[in-house]
Amino acid sequence: SKARGNGNYTFFTPEMGKALLRQTRLASGLKSALARNEFTVVYQPLCDAKTGEVTSAEALIRWNHSKMGLIPPNEFIPIAEETRIIIPIGEWVLRSAVQEAKRWHDAGHMIIVAVNISCIQLEECHCYQKIQQILAETGLEPQFLELEITERVALSNPEEMIRILNNLRSIGIKIAIDDFGTGYSSLSYLKKYPVHTIKIDRSFIQDIAFEVRDRAMLKALLIMAKSLNFSTVAEGVETPEQFSILSDMGCNVVQGFLLSTPLSGEEFFNFITNRRME
Ligand code: C2E
Ligand code: CA
Ligand code: CA
Ligand code: CA
Repeated sequence: SKARGNGNYTFFTPEMGKALLRQTRLASGLKSALARNEFTVVYQPLCDAKTGEVTSAEALIRWNHSKMGLIPPNEFIPIAEETRIIIPIGEWVLRSAVQEAKRWHDAGHMIIVAVNISCIQLEECHCYQKIQQILAETGLEPQFLELEITERVALSNPEEMIRILNNLRSIGIKIAIDDFGTGYSSLSYLKKYPVHTIKIDRSFIQDIAFEVRDRAMLKALLIMAKSLNFSTVAEGVETPEQFSILSDMGCNVVQGFLLSTPLSGEEFFNFITNRRME
């Protein structure tokens, strides 16, 4: 530990040492994870809040580290962004998800695939060409691809971001604002950005069944979204009570454990096939 001028001490605790060591191991593991085939993509269904029909699926990455086991994306995505390795990893997720969606379409399930895109990926100069190329080589129609970006992304380097997003929008790709409501409180970009969907963060949904104020807040959000012509998705819907409130309030689409947890490609395919037959 190092003495400070003011007489206090900053301790470097064993816990801090452990956390740092883990981060370093993860950062070096990420470099070889693609080549070692340690990533998979799972798909969480989203359904129409009125009809219950599956409208889309969110692609979510999973990392099974050879020695450390399953690492949650909330832990490794920030490290992948810092080291910029998110660029090839994100491209791999996008290609995998688009190829998977093509399989659904070939079987007659016209479902949208939603892919999380990091700001590092969007800012990369060839990103638009890469996305277009992946769609062209796969044969998926662009209107069935939705890119989920966070408010944080939307606020960094706005001019350049608007240009890129407009390009993507012009070929039919949909843009969703992820974790809506949790970012910095600027609504102005909603007007400037070619946004199709807003995904209302789970923290706004969690307590709606028993908190009047939370219901009021949700209602206001939905009214605003509707008047601006955005499609609305509620994240983290876990109970039938939450579902019926959302449906009554006119939320368009719901996502969460109530409908299904994220599924492997094969499980998702069975999910949509069996629902069709019901
Ligand atoms: P997100 O984009 O907000 O994704 C939704 C997360 O909520 C997922 O966690 C999902 O499994 C979880 N979830 C879904 N329904 C429920 C529910 O009813 N209750 C609760 N408690 N959770 C629910 P996951 O898969 O662990 O992903 C965490 C985050 O990691 C994502 O949050 C996203 O920010 C990031 N992430 C995941 N995959 C990718 C990726 O391919 N690229 C990038 N850039 N980020 C990704
Ligand atoms: Ca997301
Ligand atoms: Ca989200
Ligand atoms: Ca989130």
